[in-house]
Amino acid sequence: MSQVVTRFAPSPTGYLHIGGARTALFNWAYARKTGGKMLLRIEDTDRERSTEAAVVALIDGLTWLGLTWEGEPISQFGRAARHAEVAHELVKMGHAYYCYCSPAELDQMREEARSAGKPPRYNGYWRDRDPKEAPAGVEPVIRIKAPLTGEIVVDDHVQGKVVFKTENLDDFIILRSDGTPTYMHAVVVDDHDMGVTHIIRGDDHLTNAARQIVIYNAMGWSIPEMSHIPLIHGPDGAKLSKRHGALGVEAYRQMGYLPEALRNYLARLGWSHDDDEIFSTEQMVEWFSLEGLNKGAARFDFVKLESINGHY
Ligand code: GLU
Repeated sequence: MSQVVTRFAPSPTGYLHIGGARTALFNWAYARKTGGKMLLRIEDTDRERSTEAAVVALIDGLTWLGLTWEGEPISQFGRAARHAEVAHELVKMGHAYYCYCSPAELDQMREEARSAGKPPRYNGYWRDRDPKEAPAGVEPVIRIKAPLTGEIVVDDHVQGKVVFKTENLDDFIILRSDGTPTYMHAVVVDDHDMGVTHIIRGDDHLTNAARQIVIYNAMGWSIPEMSHIPLIHGPDGAKLSKRHGALGVEAYRQMGYLPEALRNYLARLGWSHDDDEIFSTEQMVEWFSLEGLNKGAARFDFVKLESINGHY
């Protein structure tokens, strides 16, 4: 098999969240275990929400945790021209098309779908229309042609085979009218161009994976192996929030926690190896496998973290 390439792809909109740190840890461990490499891709395409301070915070947090990546961090925004190039290529190949609908037309379309008891989706108006009919002065978006029938199967190391009916995927936008890519499209182009072989990320991206596979298939690119890990919950089973304790890696650093302890604890939040509670990072890397990733949501337990910290 070719060398394993993983990536951690955070959006720089705040501090390094413990959920993000756990994702980075698994990507790092898998790359280490297999003699591969992990890339760091800063997903800064959303210019309004991305900040330089957040990029610094992410890099500091990963560095403190000892999670290293190969080469320089890659700015996704810096690759916008490539994203646009692929979108236009898809149009030439007949797998995508220009859509000239105005916001008012889209609103009306959604309204009509809703009143017909259907999900509010784009109805494919420009799918087979000649762009010569386009209204003057309108910059189009590019939409991908999602398959009209059949299924998309996300074959996932954690979730198993997850089947999505293509009728539930609409012709989603890959390039906006200002020429910038959507998240869905940029991720696929980047993962392909960077030779990513394994994607490990939160299961909030599972439905995105189905849409991303539509793009992989249209381009004829091979699909990376996927592992969508359940998000971390609080001890009460609710979505992890500030009331359960600090959410940023930096806060634990300031409280005096040791990076080894946080690493050990984060590893156990979603991955297990027999009943071992305390292990070194070297052991974790040695034992790490995608099959060991847990299917159930992990519960964050502050008391346990404290007791683990005491062991180091
Ligand atoms: N940038 C996305 C996020 O921070 C992750 C994208 C991905 O891993 O594919 O949630």
